[in-house]
Amino acid sequence: MDVIAENVTQIWPGRHGDDVVALDSFSHRFASGRFSCLLGPSGCGKSTLVQIVGGLEQATSGAVRIVDPKRPDAMRPLGADSVMVWQHLNLFPWRSVVDNVAFGLEMQGVPKAQRHERARALVASVGLRGFENHLPGHLSGGMRQRVALARALILERPIMLMDEPFGALDAQTKIVMQEELLRIFDETKKTILFVTHAIEEAILLGDEVIVMTARPGRIKEVIKVDLPRPRSLEMVSSKAFGELFDRAFHLIREEVMTSMAQQAKALEEQ
Ligand code: ADP
Ligand code: MG
Repeated sequence: MDVIAENVTQIWPGRHGDDVVALDSFSHRFASGRFSCLLGPSGCGKSTLVQIVGGLEQATSGAVRIVDPKRPDAMRPLGADSVMVWQHLNLFPWRSVVDNVAFGLEMQGVPKAQRHERARALVASVGLRGFENHLPGHLSGGMRQRVALARALILERPIMLMDEPFGALDAQTKIVMQEELLRIFDETKKTILFVTHAIEEAILLGDEVIVMTARPGRIKEVIKVDLPRPRSLEMVSSKAFGELFDRAFHLIREEVMTSMAQQAKALEEQ
């Protein structure tokens, strides 16, 4: 499934009556089966964009279309083909791992035996065999993130919208989860929109890195990442990786400075 954003503009009402232009004419085609990373400073509209793509917010102007390349004329409703994975997991604390993972199927009315079988297989595939009956509160942060991933995967939607999913994890756990996600991507070839403000993460995971400007969020440059797949962490030390990193760093640096100045100004005005 392609995600086609056309001139998406989002204006939020500000607290002091002044409007905040979060996104300004954002246009991009997120192609089927491609891993796209959105890289930009805090407040540049990354979360706003994925929420619009997921059908959770309506853009002030412009449009997002979901298009099946095999049936380009069929209109798909926003949200129907995608699933979101956030940093804040929203797991149900009173439900076991398997019941959290099976939740989406339960909502679809899939009988218990069937949904549990599918959920158990996914729990195992994200490395949590043996923890099926644990409650989320008894798991580490990384394990909870795996549950959230399995819960999203069970829906088998072709588009995954990931908003800084590993942002709250410690460095080691983050590496393991990045490898996990790379493996899942190689197996399922979903269309992935992955929001991050970490340059290294964007290059390691993505087929392209969409560098955004400070607010109002626009596309500054799209960097093609032609590192081979399967990717591995060893690539981080390669020359090609270093060059991509430098390119992205150079682009993002200026935007982070602008974003910091904006934040300082906002504080002054409070
Ligand atoms: P990012 O995810 O890149 O950090 P966001 O998309 O969360 O950025 O926010 C972009 C801008 O829009 C910020 O200035 C933020 O305060 C504002 N914003 C985001 N969501 C809302 C909302 N629901 N209401 C009002 N302003 C919002
Ligand atoms: Mg955000």
